[in-house]
Amino acid sequence: MSLSLASPAKIALGITEACPLRCVHCYADCGEQPKPGELDLPAWLRVVDELVADGVIQFYIEGGEPLAKPGFLHLLARCARDAMTLLRTHGTLIDEPMADALKAAGLGRVLVDLMGADAATHERFTGVPGSFASACAGVRRCVARGIPADVLVILTRQTAPQLNAVLRLAAGLGAERVGVLRLYPLGRARRIWAEIAPSLAEQMAAIRGLEPPPGLGVMQSWHPNDHNCCWQSAAVNAFGRAIGCMYLREYADFGDVRAVRHLDIWRHHPLYRHLRSGRVERACADCSASQGSDGGCRAAAYAFHGRWTAPDPFDEDLNDGVDLRVLPERLALLA
Ligand code: SF4
Ligand code: SF4
Repeated sequence: MSLSLASPAKIALGITEACPLRCVHCYADCGEQPKPGELDLPAWLRVVDELVADGVIQFYIEGGEPLAKPGFLHLLARCARDAMTLLRTHGTLIDEPMADALKAAGLGRVLVDLMGADAATHERFTGVPGSFASACAGVRRCVARGIPADVLVILTRQTAPQLNAVLRLAAGLGAERVGVLRLYPLGRARRIWAEIAPSLAEQMAAIRGLEPPPGLGVMQSWHPNDHNCCWQSAAVNAFGRAIGCMYLREYADFGDVRAVRHLDIWRHHPLYRHLRSGRVERACADCSASQGSDGGCRAAAYAFHGRWTAPDPFDEDLNDGVDLRVLPERLALLA
């Protein structure tokens, strides 16, 4: 099965790799200061103008921590003027005035990361005391202003026993959904992989044990939901590089959107076209039937097998004995 789009309808903008938290697993290896070469506000505004002109109707703004980016609210308002705009944030910077400003700028949905159902677990990851309470308060403040909110939680050995508590917490905060996310071997997560990565059996047990409170939606990408969403995915990182998807951040670089229009990169870059073609070595029939695409996540497949067409090892039908607690040697060497 292959799906195709002439141009991307949605795009993720990773607008900075600065963040005031110090997460031990940070995929972007963020520090407090922006990294050299990050696009400034005028450059982002030009990129967004082109993307809107080329048909983008949804922006997903993330980081790093987007709220730490100078000019963030201006950029948000520009995106929201012409497109549904989502924001992924750690939430701690959403005080009352910021929640008002997000609403006024037209934010369509906020997604707040929690790394556990209690302060001890969350802050063991973030390294910042008080970040759990302020993240929860950030969700509440958005909900109070009518901004739809989701909570995101990465499935690790530490969060696995707490997933149902996270669901209850999110429902109590007024969130509409919880997204349970896979752990990827990116950035600082590689350095502590052996401590935090669950086996596939542990992951499946955690997913099958989910009991959402009435009215709370759950998003997850394990069997039979192992999305191969490359066919529609587009992303630009903090340095203006088109990378297809934030989970491809260490594997793909399709070009500089300041030098070549993103739509031209989308249409012509051979690897980008290949990833969107949906061609894979094997697929799980149940996942293909539910997702309309084959083979699962390409970033996960490439991370563990080093081949773009390989089976996704997070799918139990395609795992082929891969132990997800152990990094492949070439990734371990990067850690
Ligand atoms: S909150 Fe997100 S961006 Fe900030 S350090 Fe943690 S993982 Fe990185
Ligand atoms: S790399 Fe994975 S998550 Fe990203 S677009 Fe492709 S399939 Fe989806």
